[in-house]
Amino acid sequence: MLENEMPVGRDLGVTAARSKNMRAVKGKDTQPELLVRRALRRLGYRFRLHRKDLPGRPDIVLPRLHLAIFVHGCFWHRHEGCPRTSTPKTRADFWQQKFEANVARDRRTELALRELGWRVLIIWECEIRTPLSLDALLNFGLPNAE
Ligand SMILES: [Zn+2]
Repeated sequence: MLENEMPVGRDLGVTAARSKNMRAVKGKDTQPELLVRRALRRLGYRFRLHRKDLPGRPDIVLPRLHLAIFVHGCFWHRHEGCPRTSTPKTRADFWQQKFEANVARDRRTELALRELGWRVLIIWECEIRTPLSLDALLNFGLPNAE
């Protein structure tokens, strides 16, 4: 793992962190996602990406384990109690509405997946600090690789 591939856990300035998060909400293949995928591969899990046929188009799906993984940006998805979950001072109402809609959508997605028999694992970007802590997180959250 190269040092310059690991910006996720660094203490980024607010502006940098925010623009990063704004990219993250729309895009696929964000840096946190790539780190999770790399860790899963290293641990021997097989997975698929962005399955459009599932509610919420989960970032990563482990079909055999019937597990859907979402890698959430703390800012957009409102990680509770997380320092990255700040609210912009300007147009606070606008942001508040946007955030509430995001959180509500995440809840609906999780429910819909569970109703279809999927388990759901949410990984917050702030939890992806080092390859080691990510391995620990995944080992804790997942049954053994097949
Ligand atoms: Zn967080």
